[in-house]
Amino acid sequence: DSVFSHVVRGPEDPILGVTVAYNKDLSPNKLNLGVGAYRTEEGKPLVLNVVRKAEQQLVNDRSRIKEYLPIVGLAEFNKLSAKLIFGADSPAIRENRITTVQCLSGTGSLRVGAEFLAKHYHQRTIYIPLPTWGNHTKVFNLAGLSVKSYRYYDPATRGLNFQGLLEDLGSAPSGAIVLLHACAHNPTGVDPTLDQWERIRQLMRSKGLLPFFDSAYQGFASGSLDADAQSVRMFVADGGECLAAQSYAKNMGLYGERVGALSIVCKTADVASRVESQLKLVIRPMYSNPPIHGASIVAAILRDRNLYNEWTIELKAMADRIISMRHQLSDALRARSTPGDWSHIIKQIGMFTFTGLNSKQVAFMTKEYHIYMTSDGRISMAGLSSKTVPHLADAIHAAVT
Ligand code: PMP
Repeated sequence: DSVFSHVVRGPEDPILGVTVAYNKDLSPNKLNLGVGAYRTEEGKPLVLNVVRKAEQQLVNDRSRIKEYLPIVGLAEFNKLSAKLIFGADSPAIRENRITTVQCLSGTGSLRVGAEFLAKHYHQRTIYIPLPTWGNHTKVFNLAGLSVKSYRYYDPATRGLNFQGLLEDLGSAPSGAIVLLHACAHNPTGVDPTLDQWERIRQLMRSKGLLPFFDSAYQGFASGSLDADAQSVRMFVADGGECLAAQSYAKNMGLYGERVGALSIVCKTADVASRVESQLKLVIRPMYSNPPIHGASIVAAILRDRNLYNEWTIELKAMADRIISMRHQLSDALRARSTPGDWSHIIKQIGMFTFTGLNSKQVAFMTKEYHIYMTSDGRISMAGLSSKTVPHLADAIHAAVT
């Protein structure tokens, strides 16, 4: 008898489990709109040209070695990552008030940041938006934070519940941590306007709430790296402190390379350097030091003006294709006179549309149309193509009529 015979089967991950079910489906018309990974018009995963070029450079460079990176990762990668999110002319960078450490993509950056906060910050409560990316609660709980939510999405308008958000943050205990999606909120595709961000900033600063930005989609929302970093930069421009977790999974298509960064913006260079020394103590027993390949690709692209420009063009093309899918799906529903207001498909931002379809309708679409998505009705627009839009529109139409 096994010493593990008492182990009960755990549930599939609600997001990654969608792909498991999809892979088992034998229908030639099956469509996976579950996981948030970019696909081309042909439905294929995309490796950016600029990534191929950077990798070629790395292969050709015979001086490259495979030694361990430092605990905090590749120094040049960290510097360039801070520049990317905070802006090249950020005073906080100039004043050395930011510590940036290379982490295992966005998830790892969130986890390291959360573990640091649980050890060294006076408030152990983090407020996350309702709803949010499914992994947030688990990451923060396991790191030792207690998780509460603030109102974010209004199902009635399929937009932001701004009043609810202000009320909930307004009644949060002083000093509480607040998780903010920097742009392209997942799963709702609903972002505050710049004016609303400014109100959120004022409220949070007046109450001493600590912002923890999750930036998994910089450049993916609007096609502009700068525009998508505005929220973060507003909070850094006021001289206050914050955390930011960056992922290169989506915007460079480096999903499986697991490359990201955690930055902590501090009041002074001295504090930042002490904070970094403690981040190292969090990282060392967790995974010792991060992998070298993905960070080297990112550094090669960010340091070279030509590769950087090429990247922005490829990034914009991905963002534009997603926006075009929004229009095509909206047009297809209009052509079918599908009942209901579907304008949110065009208004929402980023990789996902939060359709408003309920779990019964989702189950129906999976069973009858072989379309896979999370049960909350979130569809990845990046998994759609001109060829598959009619099939999806037929399914939605059938589900709501
Ligand atoms: N935060 C959000 C909001 C996300 O959508 C994702 C990816 N789905 C992540 C973080 C982290 O992704 P990764 O660890 O692959 O960078």
